[in-house]
Amino acid sequence: MKLSERTKFIKPAVTLAIAAKAQKLRSQGVDLINFSAGEPDFDTPERIKQAAIGALKKGMTKYTEVRGIEPLREAIAEKYRREYNVHYDKDDVLVSCGAKHALYNVFQAMLDPGDEILIPAPYWVSYSDMAYLAGGVPKILPTTEETGFRITPQELHKALTPRVRAFVLNSPCNPTGAAYSGADLKALGSVLEGHDCLIFSDDIYEKIIYDGFRFENLLTVNPKLRDRTVIFNGVSKTYAMTGWRIGYALGPAPLISAAGKIQSQSTSNPTSIAQAAALEAIRGPQDEVETMVAEFQRRRDVIVERLGSIPGLTCFNPQGAFYVFPNILRLLGKKANGKKLASACDFADYLLEEARVAGVPGEDFGSKENIRFSYAASLEDVEKGCQRIETAIKKLG
Ligand code: PMP
Ligand code: GLU
Repeated sequence: MKLSERTKFIKPAVTLAIAAKAQKLRSQGVDLINFSAGEPDFDTPERIKQAAIGALKKGMTKYTEVRGIEPLREAIAEKYRREYNVHYDKDDVLVSCGAKHALYNVFQAMLDPGDEILIPAPYWVSYSDMAYLAGGVPKILPTTEETGFRITPQELHKALTPRVRAFVLNSPCNPTGAAYSGADLKALGSVLEGHDCLIFSDDIYEKIIYDGFRFENLLTVNPKLRDRTVIFNGVSKTYAMTGWRIGYALGPAPLISAAGKIQSQSTSNPTSIAQAAALEAIRGPQDEVETMVAEFQRRRDVIVERLGSIPGLTCFNPQGAFYVFPNILRLLGKKANGKKLASACDFADYLLEEARVAGVPGEDFGSKENIRFSYAASLEDVEKGCQRIETAIKKLG
């Protein structure tokens, strides 16, 4: 069958593909430790579920405004005023089917064929394929562990050529967990001031931060960038609501309106009752978030310590999100059951077969020498998984 040209440029999201494979193995009775899924293992808090049930009972079963119900857009704008002193009106907000969908709509609305989009690596798997789908060209800017997987102002300055139409900032970052402090953002902001490009700030892990790290918004530290910045966020990670599919974008009204037009010709509104749940999530008491983050931090401490002590691995200590991205370079070239491990993909396959641990290889995140493990799994599974990884690595020849 003849498929469109654009389908040839993109791959299925490897994160979702491996998570599905891991779930299938588990359902077949395989005793698998699943470090692949990029989603909290906690259930959605009860008060949020009740809000959806209440909305359903009240008959909130019809189309809503395409860009999301007004109270939700108002609550999102209010959150940004309250938490970051960044002022948006409800009409500057677009609610979509997940932050992924909000990003997709904005990429479609803002990129023209040939436009370059600057993406620091390692990066979340979907940015580059979304850029391709909009006719754009991803331009990858590698970072290293030496600079904490953060780009420096000098590197940014050099990479911002006139062809760059947009720059993606993701802090805390999926897959490294690296986060930019207010001072870092200030320095990057000064560089961005001198270059007329859009800035896409993906803040989806804003609340999942450790050791007292203070999350700052780029626009709090540099309000001058407001007219060309779009902020992306959502309820998936903060409130354990990945399946509800509610995310959003905030930005200058003309841009948000253009992205909304694209949404109106594709999905229409995000699910009505999921919007009611998201409203409760954002407006209601926030104590569950703290409890979940404290638990993530306990797991992070264990996984970083355990993986870092395995000969052949080094493990960067993330400031946020719920991933570790250990370096496996010293293991590549070794033999597993007579076969050479030539890539991170080979290593991930080996761990799945030998140790029954699912992780996501670094290639699709823009790194050939790392593997991503998500510690959105019970502490018991974290400990068991680390033990299995260690045993499997010791068997390499
Ligand atoms: N951005 C990043 C960096 C992510 O890791 C994810 C993961 N799902 C998303 C955006 C999209 O999240 P969602 O569509 O569930 O809101
Ligand atoms: N973002 C999550 C991950 O990286 C969920 C999967 C996806 O949306 O790609 O695993």
